[in-house]
Amino acid sequence: MTVIDNYSNNIIKFGVKDMELKKNIEDVSVIGKRVLVRCDFNVPMDADKNITDDIRIRGALPTIKYLVKNEAKVILMSHLGRPKGAPDAKYTLEPVAKRLSELLEQEIIFAADQEVVGTSARKAVNEMKNGEIVLLENVRFRKEEEKNKPEFAKELADLGDLFVNDAFGTAHRAHASTAGIADYLPCVSGYLIQKEIDIMGKALHNPDRPFVAILGGAKVSDKIGVIKNLMNKVDILIVGGGMAFTFLKAMGYEVGKSLLEEEKLILAKELMTEAAEKGIKLLLPVDVVVAGEFKADAEHFIVDAAEIPQDMMALDIGPKTIELFSEEIKNAQTVIWNGPMGVFEMPAFAVGTEAIAKSVSESKGITIIGGGDSAAAVEQLGYADKMTHISTGGGASLEFLEGIELPGIAVIENK
Ligand code: ADP
Ligand code: MG
Repeated sequence: MTVIDNYSNNIIKFGVKDMELKKNIEDVSVIGKRVLVRCDFNVPMDADKNITDDIRIRGALPTIKYLVKNEAKVILMSHLGRPKGAPDAKYTLEPVAKRLSELLEQEIIFAADQEVVGTSARKAVNEMKNGEIVLLENVRFRKEEEKNKPEFAKELADLGDLFVNDAFGTAHRAHASTAGIADYLPCVSGYLIQKEIDIMGKALHNPDRPFVAILGGAKVSDKIGVIKNLMNKVDILIVGGGMAFTFLKAMGYEVGKSLLEEEKLILAKELMTEAAEKGIKLLLPVDVVVAGEFKADAEHFIVDAAEIPQDMMALDIGPKTIELFSEEIKNAQTVIWNGPMGVFEMPAFAVGTEAIAKSVSESKGITIIGGGDSAAAVEQLGYADKMTHISTGGGASLEFLEGIELPGIAVIENK
């Protein structure tokens, strides 16, 4: 669908405005219905298949509880890891069934079919009573899943009466269990996807201003789509992290051994010109932390951005930059942050990311964190519960911020 985006006057593919009008589980009757829910139970496990972090399972609970309370027959499906389209005991969802039943204090019937939809799954679903829960085996045990083959989508669909997509992390992939299945069943969103599209959709299409975007991370090339999309929407664009050095170099600075994408210098120049033309304030680091090598214990010191020594690399933003960026963040009514300010995995170079996390957490506006590493950084540094929203999908959040239509969201019916 094509709509006009009023703010930028650009024609964009699919409107996030439309997404606000997507149906969710509360918009349809679920009582007595067999409801197939695509969850994201792709949880980390140790070698003995102990779940080491169950945040994704806990995230799915509100949708599941709502369906149980409203007397649906709840059939859950998910992928786990990368079993390469064939059954692999290493990636069975059985441990998830166990943890889920502990968290819900309710029995979960695990249908352990190697072919996902087999005798066990069909029997379990046939015998289900309202309010009961069945979990299917890892959908990626079938090679048709990631190829979005209609045969498999139909097999899944035949188990249910309604499809609920609640897996934001895979919404950017058109797979049988995320998109194909909606060819055979009505589709609504669960609470997780609903929250993602409500909060990020509003920020992108009707933001409270000033609207500040903070972009960082490793490379310009990973974020071109995000920069271009946000360029039409924000008032202030802050660029930090590794990608800042391609911009600084494009301005004529020497960046030493810092991350640099020579082939993106022209693009960086164009983006800076575009920002100026559009009246967007674009901020770059004015000082940085440099080290001789990419090592946690490397000796490091602070220099002005214009004075990066030839044989050194910049691995974090400096204190003057923190102050400059924080000043804008403080006054913002909407903040979207994607990409760490430095190599936050090493404590010596996590200072900038932590300081910006603190500033964002203190902002009185809407604060949204998108991107896998950014979410991890904010969680690791202890600011997660002070943000309005941390998007749960790495790649999916990025594509959302790029303004791309996500297949798993496109299939959800409009109100
Ligand atoms: P996200 O997953 O949030 O989208 P990215 O994957 O783009 O973020 O970037 C995260 C990575 O960027 C981190 O591994 C971090 O170490 C790296 N990074 C940040 N700043 C620098 C820098 N100055 N030099 C090298 N790498 C950097
Ligand atoms: Mg990343």
